[in-house]
Amino acid sequence: MNRNKSIQELSSTKEFDICIIGGGATGLGIAVDAASRGCKTVLLEKYDFAKGTSSRSTKLVHGGVRYLQQGNIKLVMEALKERGLLKKNAPHLVKNQSFVIPNYKWWENSFYGIGLKVYDWMAGSLGLGPSKFLSKEETLALAPNLDEDGLRGGVLYHDGQFDDARLAIHLAMTAADHGAVVINYMSADGLLKANGKVCGVIAKDNIEDKEYEIKAKAVINATGIFSDSIAKMDDPKAEPLISHSQGIHLVFDKEFLLSDTAIMIPRTDDGRVLFAVPWHNKTIVGTTDTPVSSASEEPIAMKGEIEFVMQHIHRYLKKDPSYDDIRSVFAGLRPLVKSNSKITAAISRDHHISVSDSELISITGGKWTTYRKMAEDVMEIAVHKTGMSEKECVTKNLHVHGYKENNNYRASLYYYGTDEETIKDLIKKDNSLSELIHPSLPYIKAEIIWAAQNEMCMTVEDALARRTRALLLDAKAAIESAPLVAQMLSKEMNKDERWIKEQTASFKKTALNYLPLAIT
Ligand SMILES: Cc1cc2nc3c(=O)[nH]c(=O)nc-3n(C[C@H](O)[C@H](O)[C@H](O)COP(=O)(O)OP(=O)(O)OC[C@H]3O[C@@H](n4cnc5c(N)ncnc54)[C@H](O)[C@@H]3O)c2cc1C
Repeated sequence: MNRNKSIQELSSTKEFDICIIGGGATGLGIAVDAASRGCKTVLLEKYDFAKGTSSRSTKLVHGGVRYLQQGNIKLVMEALKERGLLKKNAPHLVKNQSFVIPNYKWWENSFYGIGLKVYDWMAGSLGLGPSKFLSKEETLALAPNLDEDGLRGGVLYHDGQFDDARLAIHLAMTAADHGAVVINYMSADGLLKANGKVCGVIAKDNIEDKEYEIKAKAVINATGIFSDSIAKMDDPKAEPLISHSQGIHLVFDKEFLLSDTAIMIPRTDDGRVLFAVPWHNKTIVGTTDTPVSSASEEPIAMKGEIEFVMQHIHRYLKKDPSYDDIRSVFAGLRPLVKSNSKITAAISRDHHISVSDSELISITGGKWTTYRKMAEDVMEIAVHKTGMSEKECVTKNLHVHGYKENNNYRASLYYYGTDEETIKDLIKKDNSLSELIHPSLPYIKAEIIWAAQNEMCMTVEDALARRTRALLLDAKAAIESAPLVAQMLSKEMNKDERWIKEQTASFKKTALNYLPLAIT
């Protein structure tokens, strides 16, 4: 993937079949679907791929045990099927993760145990392993840091786990491998219309400060929490469709789990579930569900949310983490399609597709796990509209970029799949690239060079937040590594000393919001 090459292709293409606005899970999934069907496809992302909600998830590829509790059978069935397909098509990125639900009340074991047997049954042949009732001793063997006081037993079940931003980058690369033009830092600032119908996008290159008119047979708005703003470009009177709910995660060292098994707490005070999941040798704990009034590309965790997560995790762990143990705090906004309910936890996570009078197609809602199905559904409408119905969806069996069977998830560069070998080749040429970018981070210099050369990494934040996950794993270490990363990128991108200073300062400003003690 190369940005200059993409811009050249953009300039030389008279008309695309499909133009997608938004480079999160939804938009990238659509780009993969459209390009692999054989449609001439362009995707425009205002910031970086997965800068929005798609890099801020709980990192679960799941059917959604809590949706089962809510009785949303259709959603769970669909998500379980998609979970299986994603594990099949991106085995280098989707791991089988075991979870323990600890039971402290007499009725919980049979209640959750039976529910999870239904979950297993619904997954059918795409299941990741059977659930199991556990004695108190078995529960503690799998989750040794659980509070023993009052513990009666537990239930073991399986779901998928992944690296969200890495999958987003690999989807962008998959789309590019199939001929799509994907460009980051390119915003849709207006819509082109002919005879009252949308026929393209006015786009701005936010790096070169240049405007483009992009013609397309169909334009798809996949901007998540920003969806209403694109709808307004189409029709200034369009009613807002999206409400926003913030979810935060706290990141601790691995020692707070003491094992590779995740813990699922089935009922928090506000009726949600809370997860503590091992991820890249850390523990992620979350999440919350706080209604917020406006969309932001860089949402900030609130003090009350951090306290909520800390209070709940303290109830269940023997060795409690303190505020000083928090390595990073990250927040994301759910784009929820409005219903009459005032409680955001009860609003549907199902996706919603609409076609405006001027034929702008918008898709919102859903979840990471179901991105492929969302893309298929929206593309069925788009190919029909553009008279290309003969082009059929092929993504059920399409390998994601980097596809590698029997991946060793303990290997340091496992998440690159087949690209791992090419990264190792960089080290063969220059051994200094095997050095860590920071003693507290698991990333080496070769990853930064690889990202700049092949993954459209344009800024220090791209490198530390989404090409690597340094900012989420340890915000302080990420800030400390920023000058080195800026230096390395500047060489690759031919930038001067001023750029290095600006990039380092700009990253620090953003990253400070991931340090819990900076949040008041
Ligand atoms: C706290 C939390 C936890 C979650 N956990 C999970 C989980 O464990 N598993 C799961 O399956 N799902 C999970 N989800 C849901 C999942 O993350 C989202 O459904 C998904 O990421 C939404 O993707 P999206 O592409 O629709 O939106 P986004 O990722 O927000 O992408 C929209 C993109 O559009 C871009 N954009 C906006 N305006 C413009 C413009 N004018 N021009 C060009 N681009 C523009 C934005 O920059 C952004 O990158 C979670 C969500 C949250 C908030």
